[in-house]
Amino acid sequence: MHHNNVSYPVEVPLILGHEFSGIIAKTGSRVEKFKTGDRVTAETHAEYCGKCLLCRTNDYRLCRDRKGYGFGVDGAYAEYVKVPERILHRVPDNVSLEEAALTEPLCVAYNVVVEKMKVKPGDVAVVIGPGPIGILACKMLELSGASEIIVIGTGGDEKRLEMAGKYGATMIINSDNTDPVPIVLEKNEGYGADVVVDAAGPAATLKLSLELVRPSGIINKVAWGPEPVDFSLDKLISKAVTLQGSFSHTWDIWEKCLKLMEEGQVNLADLITHRLSLEDWEKGFELVESREGIKVVLKPNIGK
Ligand SMILES: [Zn+2]
Ligand SMILES: [Zn+2]
Repeated sequence: MHHNNVSYPVEVPLILGHEFSGIIAKTGSRVEKFKTGDRVTAETHAEYCGKCLLCRTNDYRLCRDRKGYGFGVDGAYAEYVKVPERILHRVPDNVSLEEAALTEPLCVAYNVVVEKMKVKPGDVAVVIGPGPIGILACKMLELSGASEIIVIGTGGDEKRLEMAGKYGATMIINSDNTDPVPIVLEKNEGYGADVVVDAAGPAATLKLSLELVRPSGIINKVAWGPEPVDFSLDKLISKAVTLQGSFSHTWDIWEKCLKLMEEGQVNLADLITHRLSLEDWEKGFELVESREGIKVVLKPNIGK
């Protein structure tokens, strides 16, 4: 979004920022369930029609009229952001606002592992790409009872791979010096992993996913990759693999994730590697792009 080279239109010029939390400064006249002073976080779906087939079947995230913060409408890199009541969520008293600002990527991971893949206790899982979504997918896999959680990264991912270990990964592979294929293909009687999460995105990782997944297994592709796929998809057929796309989250997932945070089943604070004032937003992007940072929290009030 920062470089405006994502696979969907960014309505430039606009204010970035779609993962946030805050304290309600003012409510509109028709707001009933929230009041000034409430600690809240919000879904990213700033606008949707509420009337179409998808909106009426709890799939409003995919409504053709959906507009998200930071790419469809002005986002949260600001002192104030305007949020409709229907997408607000209360932050539990024992959860910090910093952690609450990271609810969104946890919801993405919940959607992948629980809603889409329906991971079972005992499953052998692979996560490709140890970014925030990959790391949180490891945590959701652990909570779902997966017995083996193998995370794969490349050179430069060292810090992120280490973090994935803290978040439930049982085996860490740097593919620059270790080929993951023979390791994963030892699992399940030589058939491979039950489920594979592609949290990296390029064509090469989808190709790798098809190698690693067992016949009748599931691949969930949650990471974007704008370039065309450059290999045969025949393995999808010969292995009868289910290939899923995964996008965003819904109100019920947000409530579950906030419950996980309230009960201490997920600790998001460890993911925050840097805290910067909003003025230093560009440095935050540099930290993440260099993979030096994992999650950077921007605070509009620092330095005032
Ligand atoms: Zn709609
Ligand atoms: Zn996000």
